[in-house]
Amino acid sequence: MAIILASSNKGKIREISDLLGREIVPYSDVVGEVDIVEDGKSFKENAIIKARTIYEKIPDAVVIADDSGISVPALGGEPGIYSARYAGEGASDKENLQKLIDTLKERGIERTPAYYTAAIAIASPQGIYTVHGWMWGEVIAEARGDKGFGYDPMFIPEGYNETLGELDEEIKQRISHRAKALRLAKIVLERLDV
Ligand code: IMP
Repeated sequence: MAIILASSNKGKIREISDLLGREIVPYSDVVGEVDIVEDGKSFKENAIIKARTIYEKIPDAVVIADDSGISVPALGGEPGIYSARYAGEGASDKENLQKLIDTLKERGIERTPAYYTAAIAIASPQGIYTVHGWMWGEVIAEARGDKGFGYDPMFIPEGYNETLGELDEEIKQRISHRAKALRLAKIVLERLDV
């Protein structure tokens, strides 16, 4: 059975199908564009909202959705679930990155612990299941390197001295929050026998 992804992001489709080792179909190929209101209060709630919204339109399918972001404890957990719109609705990755750098500078912080979270929800005829993955490290008040995306140029993973903008992408694929969550999602899918 093909798994439906509650996102049309091509990068995500490729990454998820590679890590799960199976075909993933974007929901828009099946039901067209759907307006999903992400008004949850956690990564988990937002992943469930996405998976459930699409599952209601394609019952009996298995729908997978993810929600992710970066949290900085010294900033009270910001940007957290607002990572994709930290610099405002429709902001680019670059603008969001710059906003986090500026916020750290305003508070006089050069370097501080931070972590990425990925929540994955799987909606199926057997029910809704969720898994999480985290990647710990530190954020610095500057951007270094151009690999990865989003906040990667300012994030130094635990055990490394360079940012994800500088490190080999193969390293990120091994240690990332999404990779960890997907390994658990794979186990859930196997147990669901789909
Ligand atoms: P979403 O899960 O597609 O809603 O993405 C949330 C936002 O979190 C993205 O727009 C990025 O800004 C940020 N984000 C999530 N995962 C990563 C990552 O692996 N690297 C850099 N930024 C990320």
